[in-house]
Amino acid sequence: MYLERTLKAPIHCTGTGLHSNAKVSLALLPAPSGTGVLFRRTDLAPNAEILAIRDNVVDSRLCTTIGNGKRNGGGFTISTIEHLMAAFAGCGVENVIVELDGAEVPIMDGSAAPFVFLIECAGIVEQNAPRRAIRVLKKISVGNQERWASIAPSDYFSLRCEIAFDHDFIGAQSFEYDGRESVFADELSRARTFCLEADVEKMRAAGLALGGSLDNAVVIGEDGLLNEEGLRYDTEFARHKALDCIGDLSLAGAPLLARVESYCAGHAMNHELLGALLDDSDAWCWVDMNTLNPNRLNAAPQVHHAAAAASA
Ligand SMILES: [Zn+2]
Repeated sequence: MYLERTLKAPIHCTGTGLHSNAKVSLALLPAPSGTGVLFRRTDLAPNAEILAIRDNVVDSRLCTTIGNGKRNGGGFTISTIEHLMAAFAGCGVENVIVELDGAEVPIMDGSAAPFVFLIECAGIVEQNAPRRAIRVLKKISVGNQERWASIAPSDYFSLRCEIAFDHDFIGAQSFEYDGRESVFADELSRARTFCLEADVEKMRAAGLALGGSLDNAVVIGEDGLLNEEGLRYDTEFARHKALDCIGDLSLAGAPLLARVESYCAGHAMNHELLGALLDDSDAWCWVDMNTLNPNRLNAAPQVHHAAAAASA
């Protein structure tokens, strides 16, 4: 059976916001089936909650920000949710409450690996509700020749991200992901945020990336990498773009049965693609994953992490 999943136990950590440089306390809590990923600001009044769905995305220029003020003005926001969202999607956790005492998810080491570690430590349990997915019914494309993204029908989720930077150290690279949880943890989760040294000062002048450092980002200078420890993967940059894309597309609210391809896309284009898909009612439908042919699904239904935690 494919069942909805949540955390076995609460878990928490502290960290720093990449853009705000504020200290933030983060707690991940189990949630009932049907919850989705619900963010809660504990530093604000009770019920300061926002569901992590595409309709609540209010900014996607440098990171993905959700807010409750899109329609009524005012309200509050939570920024830089993408790496945490990618960790939930990559680990197959759909129901969770995320408590934060600030406006930004801590950046940790700039990747999703610390969040995957937290999820694995908390453990994962199956719930008494069949897992649903979104089946993509027709191909949707956005963008232009310079940058584009597309989503097309498939029996399981897979993704190819390609980038082409006008910088010798990054250049052109791509990464192909087949949707398996083990591949996410091993091949994608540790890929870090990256930026050019030349852009760091511009961001700082604009009051952004104030918490950025070589501990939470790969920074590329004119002569190469500033991080002494080097890269974690040969194609770390393309892998990080894939990680961002997985996190952004998870705001669909359910796993996507789709083939995603992108070229030089960022958060804004990921959300544009998701919006173009979800706004077209002929382009997708809900499916109970248990009605699908398991031989054609590339995701095993077993709860690997909970089993590992129980035997540890
Ligand atoms: Zn990122």
